[in-house]
Amino acid sequence: MMHVLVLGAGQLARMMSLAGAPLNIKISAFDVRSENIVHPLTLEVLGQGLDNAIEQADVITAEFEHIPHDVLESCEKSGKFLPSTDAIKAGGDRRIEKQLLDNAEVKNANYAVINSKQDFQAAIESVGIPMVLKSALGGYDGKGQWRLKSVDQVDTIWEEMAQCIAESNNQAIVAEEFVPFQREVSLVGARNRQGDLAIYPLAENVHTNGVLTLSTAIDEPELQAQAAQMFTAVAESLDYVGVLALEFFDVNGQLLVNEIAPRVHNSGHWTQQGADTCQFENHLRAVCDMPLGTTEAVRATSMVNILGQDQVPMQVHQLAGCHVHWYGKEKRAGRKMGHINVSAANRAELKLQLLKLADLLDEEAFPALKPAAQAL
Ligand code: AMP
Repeated sequence: MMHVLVLGAGQLARMMSLAGAPLNIKISAFDVRSENIVHPLTLEVLGQGLDNAIEQADVITAEFEHIPHDVLESCEKSGKFLPSTDAIKAGGDRRIEKQLLDNAEVKNANYAVINSKQDFQAAIESVGIPMVLKSALGGYDGKGQWRLKSVDQVDTIWEEMAQCIAESNNQAIVAEEFVPFQREVSLVGARNRQGDLAIYPLAENVHTNGVLTLSTAIDEPELQAQAAQMFTAVAESLDYVGVLALEFFDVNGQLLVNEIAPRVHNSGHWTQQGADTCQFENHLRAVCDMPLGTTEAVRATSMVNILGQDQVPMQVHQLAGCHVHWYGKEKRAGRKMGHINVSAANRAELKLQLLKLADLLDEEAFPALKPAAQAL
């Protein structure tokens, strides 16, 4: 029996636990804020303190990237932590992430780092308008972001950015050129300690108000090859072990990396029903020094996020190829509460099933589903 400690006690640790059980891999979760060691499914407190948690584990990994650096350092020192603290830091700091992409010669949007109003002026020259401004630390799902569309917005946006920079030490803003993309896609894959790679098919993602709402696995060989090459460059430059996700902008068939996530990813949840081995199992296989499972798509699959809802109509469970995954969380507006995987024999049938699902669900809670399904 292997014992894996996951930093973070959310749905990703929960789903790792569910995937690990058949392999006799036991998961404990470490709640970084309370320093409690908890059961990943029941959240029952099993123990207290990071030193304790480290001591008990054979392997330590993470389900999120915004982890205090002192916690990371302690885990690194134990020699049990995978992927690596560098990978986690790159996922949690846009400055490090951009540097990493440039060093690995992976295409990404032009950018500049802003610490002062002078830097902001210089960025307007070097990056150009329109630009997207993102806080270097702590931003996710479109939070901590600004859009600069014309020079008359500079003073107001600077006021807000200056406040953001002042709020925590080591904060800065990354200015990025605005990318006129047609769609967003992402790639999830695993690399194990031997350096073997197992990469899933790309997923096409729909965001609503900056939050992922729908993810559909796609079969586009040319784009897949491009994404896989970039994935390999990033994973190898980090000597990465575990599941890694890359988010891309697709600009007329040319991919630019938007973000990397050094962990299992929301856009990989479709693999639970749509792939031979799911991302959670492959992450555990990688960090536990096992061979990776095959990643091929076994049927057409989409994932629908459930935001701010703690129930779906019973008829959803009657839909063929439909699987609901709840996270056991308390309901809050906009919160990721669960997801629904929808699978079918082919894309045309998947579209029909998604349209049936959309008819059963509250349109206000799932505004993107019907139009996105119609566009499939
Ligand atoms: P992020 O938090 O970096 O994933 O950004 C949130 C969303 O903002 C992305 O999913 C895109 O839809 C949009 N976005 C981010 N960066 C850019 C960019 N450089 N150009 C255009 N849109 C962007």
